[in-house]
Amino acid sequence: MNREEKFIQELKDKDRKFVWHPFTQMQEYVEEEPVIIDRAEGITLIDIEGHRYIDGVSSLWVNLHGHRKTEIDEAVKAQIDRVSHSTLLGLSNVPAVELAEKLVAITPASLKKVFYSDSGSTAVEIALKMAFQYYRHIEGKESKKTRFMALTNSYHGDTIGSVSVGGISLFHEIFRPLLFSCSFAPSPYCYRCPLEREFPSCRLACADALEEQVSQEQDEIAALIIEPLVQGAAGMLTAPTGYLRRVREICDRFNILMIADEVATGFGRTGTMFACEQEDVAPDLLCLAKGITGGTLPLAATLTSQKVYDAFLGTYAELKTFFHGHTYTGNPLACAAALANLTVFEREHVLEELPGKISFLTKELEKLKGCRHVGEIRQRGFMVGIEMVTDRSDRTPYPAAEKIGHRIILAARERGLIIRPLGNVIVLMPPLCITPDEIREIVAITEAAIRDVTES
Ligand SMILES: *Cc1c(COP(=O)(O)O)cnc(C)c1O
Repeated sequence: MNREEKFIQELKDKDRKFVWHPFTQMQEYVEEEPVIIDRAEGITLIDIEGHRYIDGVSSLWVNLHGHRKTEIDEAVKAQIDRVSHSTLLGLSNVPAVELAEKLVAITPASLKKVFYSDSGSTAVEIALKMAFQYYRHIEGKESKKTRFMALTNSYHGDTIGSVSVGGISLFHEIFRPLLFSCSFAPSPYCYRCPLEREFPSCRLACADALEEQVSQEQDEIAALIIEPLVQGAAGMLTAPTGYLRRVREICDRFNILMIADEVATGFGRTGTMFACEQEDVAPDLLCLAKGITGGTLPLAATLTSQKVYDAFLGTYAELKTFFHGHTYTGNPLACAAALANLTVFEREHVLEELPGKISFLTKELEKLKGCRHVGEIRQRGFMVGIEMVTDRSDRTPYPAAEKIGHRIILAARERGLIIRPLGNVIVLMPPLCITPDEIREIVAITEAAIRDVTES
């Protein structure tokens, strides 16, 4: 073994020995060969052994313009030479101010104020706490609006508050005794409709069910939280057209706040800057994270309407302050990266380029319909879920023990594509900068991996 090989071997051993990976069964992880990323070029990740992989899930849904995007890297480097961190508690900093102005300008018109934090989970926690406190100020301490409404199959993060409004039993059930009370309405998951109806003849029966539930619990519900257009972590469940609009109408009719969790869908991922735009919906609170810095640094923001913000105003003695804030809130490096990210959107006309690429991706995905075990292909913009089934005629899911998703992504990895499954769903979520040739390549590798595992 030469020195280089020895270094690689030691690093892999130390990874197995010291690192506890998220959402990973470590007993099985340590049996497999770890892939340790060393560097990246554009949409390609390169590991310590020099293997190259296309980043097919945008490094877990964050990357937009490729890795080491010059404008973003330069902005971070320039900010390092000014200040890397100062607190936002009672002080301000230049990029945090400039970014807040930009975010208010590009998000739905209802949103006027920006509260920073560092992850999608904290952006959601903040929205939940704000909604709760809002009704304490509006209705007084006796307010019964202390609960939330969410959808089954929803995912809003991993902290206890965000898990409380989570509706994926595989992730969330074990924590149930720790969680606060939340009501769940049926998920708009047409392929496995919980109401056993068909779209469009159902006329959004799931929205009717939500409305019925909200109408019964309106006195207790402070806010409804929703992932607009796509329930991501549940397997890219794409809601039927008109569903989001109905949700906004229901919130208005029954006087509850609407929290749009665009942590995954924001920043172009569904084809428009924000998913809410597609149904002309303006939420009361909006959660942003993942793509906000183009996938470079952790940052999140919770945006609110003037109405929500105003309810917190008063003298200090009135105790209406929002007592919440994370140590690295409004970090200048992350805000500088986010500003540069938005500049790239403008300069490179990123949104204008998307429709052509999205329809090309749709056309390429057609090819997967020939695979015997592909049950449904769901796509909203650059968010794709390919649901695998043992039998297409009755949509039988693969048993979890078969680890079908995991085996397919390992086969894709051998062919130079990094993707991650969600149970039996293969996810593709390439960076927005991907070219048609690269789209063709990731779909071809995905098809080959699916056929390797399910047809041989
Ligand atoms: C990823 C995600 C979150 C959690 O974000 P973290 O940064 O992982 O805490 C919340 N909501 C949605 C919709 C997400 O996809």
